[in-house]
Amino acid sequence: MLIRLRKRLPPDAISRVLRVCTELGLKARFLDGGRELLELEGPGGPEARSRLEDLAGVLAVLDAGSARELFARVPPGPRQAAGDGPPVGDTVVQVGAARFGGGHVSVIAGPCAVEGEERLVEIARGVRERGAAMLRGGAFKPRTSPYSFQGARHAGLERLARAKLESGLAVVTEVLDPRDVEAVGAVADMFQIGSRNMTNTPLLVEVGRSGVPVLLKRGFMATLRELLLAAEFVLAEGNPNVVLCERGIRGFDPSTRNVLDVGAVAHLKRATHLPVIVDPSHAAGRAELVRALARAGVAAGADGVIVEVHPAPVEVHCDGHQAIGFAELERVVADVRALCALDQRLLVTPLPQEVLP
Ligand code: PEP
Ligand code: MN
Repeated sequence: MLIRLRKRLPPDAISRVLRVCTELGLKARFLDGGRELLELEGPGGPEARSRLEDLAGVLAVLDAGSARELFARVPPGPRQAAGDGPPVGDTVVQVGAARFGGGHVSVIAGPCAVEGEERLVEIARGVRERGAAMLRGGAFKPRTSPYSFQGARHAGLERLARAKLESGLAVVTEVLDPRDVEAVGAVADMFQIGSRNMTNTPLLVEVGRSGVPVLLKRGFMATLRELLLAAEFVLAEGNPNVVLCERGIRGFDPSTRNVLDVGAVAHLKRATHLPVIVDPSHAAGRAELVRALARAGVAAGADGVIVEVHPAPVEVHCDGHQAIGFAELERVVADVRALCALDQRLLVTPLPQEVLP
């Protein structure tokens, strides 16, 4: 057996693990200088295994020779192969009122970028009323050109804090730089790691350490294995709250901004226990296609949808052509609800408006 420990585990926690190994008659030896991977020799029955799994600081107990990544849906080993191992269910990630995975589906909606404060508050209230369980909006924007609007930055974070307060919705917002994790984390209920940063491993490690839930978007040229390994960087830091997002990959046809990879959703739902959501806005790049792609994603098994919504898209600096209005959001939410009902899943919507201050 192998034990994977949390990174930088304090010495007393390591000693506790080693003591339990000795009590169980297991000989333990570290395989790495970082003291994260412990090899065990001796009789490792199911009771020993579950006792070790329950110890603080233990991320996973693996069968030697077939050690798998933390994202994997089915842990390896002879017990599983023989069919008598416990099936590993979906990870459910809860962020405020929203829940993703384990049959729960949530809609995240909001502007591409945080712009005016009053407009943001209006959008936050508007999307909540239409059934979105979380607010999105970038304060730090990854832009293709250095001459484009780069986001309202720290002022944007303050506006998000106010929108959160006024609407009661939890917020997902992008962090671009490991140095901003603390400032963004003071407001964000969930960090967004954007497509362009999927392979930024120092950033993944930093959000992993924060313990704040992470929305990890697939790089537009990334394979699904690369996406899963990016998630592994967060999980290996001891942060289990990762939601994957399929947002379209680069294709050859300029009719749509990207190509929503619906097959990716179906594959990921089998390959990992982590929740998977779709972003039909960045996939389509056109408001009139968003609803159809949201339906396709949820029909393929997605645990949620993230959509860009704006009541006056002509006024915005960023992605106005793909923003849908409130009425269309209402239709998207109704479609998602209907699709959930087809396979006994639940669309999670926020608390009733009456409980708001
Ligand atoms: C966004 O969500 O606004 C965004 C920039 O997304 P992506 O990283 O998928 O392009
Ligand atoms: Mn956008």
